[in-house]
Amino acid sequence: MVNLVLLGAPGAGKGTQAMKISQLYNIPHISTGDILRDNIERGTQLGLEAKKFMDRGELVPDSVLIGIIEDRLSEPDTDKGFLLDGYPRTIPQAQALGDIIDHIGKELDAVIDIEVPDEVLVKRLAGRRMCRCGASYHVIFNPPEVDGKCDHCGGELYQRDDDAENAVKTRLVSYYGLTYPLIDYYREKGLLKSMNGTGSVDDIFKEINSVIELIL
Ligand code: AMP
Repeated sequence: MVNLVLLGAPGAGKGTQAMKISQLYNIPHISTGDILRDNIERGTQLGLEAKKFMDRGELVPDSVLIGIIEDRLSEPDTDKGFLLDGYPRTIPQAQALGDIIDHIGKELDAVIDIEVPDEVLVKRLAGRRMCRCGASYHVIFNPPEVDGKCDHCGGELYQRDDDAENAVKTRLVSYYGLTYPLIDYYREKGLLKSMNGTGSVDDIFKEINSVIELIL
C-alpha cells in the first residue's frame, strides 16, 4: 500500500505520470481537476460554482476542495493506497489533508515534486490536447497517431478552456504564490522527493518508480 501526492506546476506532467502509476500499482488516481471537470459536465451545483474560477485559471476555494477530498478519501478503494494529483494546492489544503488522513488512520508516504522550467510549461500547455478517457497529447511533442483522435479509445481530442494563454498565466501566478510553498512544507516533514520533469515520460516514470519501490 502506498499513499502519494504528486506536486508540480500545471503542465509538469502530473496527470500523465499519475495514470501510469495508478495502473502499475493498482491504486486510485484522484485528480481534483478531473473531479471538478466531471461536475461541470454533469451540470452539478458544485460544477457551476467551480467553472467560474477554473475558466479564469484561478484556484477554486479551499473549502470546496477540502470537502471533495474528505469525501473521496473516505471511499473504500483508498484502502489499498491512493495517488493525489492536483491536491493539495495551498497550505490550508495540505493542513486539512493531514487532519483527514490522521482521522482515517492513514499516513502519507511521499510527496513527489515534478520540476519543469516555466518556458517549457507554457509550450506544453499551449499545445496540449486532452481526451475524456484521461489521456493527454501534445500537437508537436506527443501527437496522436490519427490527428484529433485518442490512440487509446478513439475519442475526440479537445483543448481545455484553461489552457488558453490568459488562463495559463493566471495558473502559473497561482502556482508560484499559493502552491510553491508546499515544497518547503513537505520538505520539512521529510516527505519531499523532487525530480527533474524535463526528460522523457518513461525516464521520469522510472525515477518515480524507484521512489515508490523504496516505500513498498
Ligand atoms: P488541473 O486539472 O489539476 O490542472 O486543475 C484544473 C483547475 O481546477 C485548476 O486550475 C483549478 O481551477 C481547479 N482545481 C483543481 N484542483 C484544485 C485544488 N486542489 N485547489 C483549487 N483549485 C483546484
